[in-house]
Amino acid sequence: MENFSRKGKMVQISNEGAIKMSVYDVLLNDSGKYFLLGNEAIVRGMIEAGVGFAATYPGTPSSEVGDVLSRIAKKAGIYFEYSTNEIVALEAVAAAAASGVRSFTFMKHVGLNVAADAFMSVSYAGTNSGLVIMSGDDPSMFSSQNEQDNRHYAEFAYMPLLEPSNPQEAKDFLVYAFKISEKYGTPVLFRTTTRVSHLRGIVEYGSKGEIKAKGHFNKNFEKFTLLPSNAYKQKGKLIERYNALKEESDSSYINRVEGKGSDIGIITSGAAYNSVKDAIIELGLEIDILKLGFTFPIPEKKISDFLNSHKRVIVVEELDPYLETKVRNVAQIYGINTSINGKMDGFSPWSYEFNPDRVMEILSKIIGIEIKKDDKYSEIKLPSRPPVLCPGCPHRATFYATKLVSKQLRLEDPIYPNDIGCYSLGYQKPYQMSDFLLCMGSSIGSASGFSQATDQPVISFIGDSTFFHAGIPGLINAVHNNHRVVLIILDNRTTAMTGHQPNPGLPFNAYREPAKEISIEEIVKGIGVKYVRTVDPYDLKETMVAIREAANSDGVSVIIAKRECALLRDERMRREGKWIRYQINQEKCTKCMNCVKNFTCPAIYVDSDGSVKIDPVLCDGCGVCSTSLVCGFHAIERVEQ
Ligand code: SF4
Ligand code: SF4
Repeated sequence: MENFSRKGKMVQISNEGAIKMSVYDVLLNDSGKYFLLGNEAIVRGMIEAGVGFAATYPGTPSSEVGDVLSRIAKKAGIYFEYSTNEIVALEAVAAAAASGVRSFTFMKHVGLNVAADAFMSVSYAGTNSGLVIMSGDDPSMFSSQNEQDNRHYAEFAYMPLLEPSNPQEAKDFLVYAFKISEKYGTPVLFRTTTRVSHLRGIVEYGSKGEIKAKGHFNKNFEKFTLLPSNAYKQKGKLIERYNALKEESDSSYINRVEGKGSDIGIITSGAAYNSVKDAIIELGLEIDILKLGFTFPIPEKKISDFLNSHKRVIVVEELDPYLETKVRNVAQIYGINTSINGKMDGFSPWSYEFNPDRVMEILSKIIGIEIKKDDKYSEIKLPSRPPVLCPGCPHRATFYATKLVSKQLRLEDPIYPNDIGCYSLGYQKPYQMSDFLLCMGSSIGSASGFSQATDQPVISFIGDSTFFHAGIPGLINAVHNNHRVVLIILDNRTTAMTGHQPNPGLPFNAYREPAKEISIEEIVKGIGVKYVRTVDPYDLKETMVAIREAANSDGVSVIIAKRECALLRDERMRREGKWIRYQINQEKCTKCMNCVKNFTCPAIYVDSDGSVKIDPVLCDGCGVCSTSLVCGFHAIERVEQ
């Protein structure tokens, strides 16, 4: 029997032929070998580890863990929730683990910054049952605002750190992480990167664990209530635990030496290991590798033995010289003179993810061998296609209305702080409405600063999910300190950018079961904002009236531009059997180009003969372009089929 997955379906090939089954069902099978995504393998690891409670806020590259869980958690007996943000998720799983339920939270690397307050303290408190925290790091910043190396967090918090390199390890190491967690009563940091979370590989199943979703919290004031006097005592225990974990790391099976003996050795971990393996095969080198999976505390003894048995050791790792610093420390402490190369002596780059080409380049420089540069592992250079807001996207209509009002009111050099979500794309021409963006929620916090420190008008944008995640404290701050800010909440009724996960503003939860819908409008009014309007952004006139009134108001004013994401609308229309699209009446079109240049729906294009047309495949029938505020010549007409 062979298995592989294709387009979300697992295909099983047996003597009877191909049987298609859902990857969601496959994860619940008792045994077998399957071709899984790293994040799918992590869900399988949860099942084998007996995880009973999981919580997250979606963020790439960890989102698929939640997407899969939302389908199978109930069947598996796991409680799963999308929490309001990462720190809430971590606090929830820490409480569940303290109550004897094995618990898991997963987030993208910058999510750990949000959770950092609880993260640092939960290490002091420890845990009663297994507690693992996954950080999905994003070298090369495929979908992130930075490429911070979260391995540092483990050392910062004295928390053990495991780093898998492939889907099989992702599953196996997760099970192992829970064992370590319970053996030492500590949370464990489980760090993947995009290339591990999104890599596919064969995964051989182990047996399923016993899943317990309910426990009992036995109070322990000294351990779980981190008042200064208790934290003081816990710090001593934390250091004792750290020393015990050093020995565990040294004897761990996931820190292993590969090779038959060579003068040069490589120390590596995580996704970099895969590139090292390919690179040395390509170069025809036989080099020993110390492959580390348990990277905090580092296995000092294994590293010193490896240094002692090689003349030169090269540390190959992505991002910061995290391992290299520690390897150099070991050499210094143990008085070892082996040459060590890596980033700190300039051979290895500090940025972006590695591939075999990059590793070959590093090795060739250090070892002094010629390499043929064919860059076959590097990205294929395709013509650049910047991301755009989808046809029918309600955010485009909001940006268009804001632009028109800003012009009408002759706002002098307005500042448009933006936030994390698909609407960040407001930075593109012709809108150029993303002047300042640091992190989740910064659109509102920074608005306070701009309104006070300048005399420029400030109009901020934030999505619904991001508003719940990190926008509310910023809004309270702006209202309390009486800053003059217009906030436009782009409520597209989903967390669109990470794959349409629910948020607290929706009437259903992770399992798509009914849940209490939290009203953004009521929150905003409850905070004390005087001017609050909810508008449909497809109604440009109504939206412009609201923006005008808000811009003329004192203090904080809020507009909620509420309209479902165009992709969800398309899906709904298809289900309802409706197909609406628009076309341009060539007799009426004057070729003024307003729809092309100033509205910029990707479905509208200029044909080779100079006529303006709408691509019927791309048009989603929103109809915004047909209004007189976009086409003053009424040339855009509805076609219904
Ligand atoms: S806005 Fe109307 S008239 Fe102008 S180019 Fe577009 S369809 Fe033609
Ligand atoms: S109706 Fe107009 S704005 Fe809407 S998707 Fe079609 S072309 Fe774009």
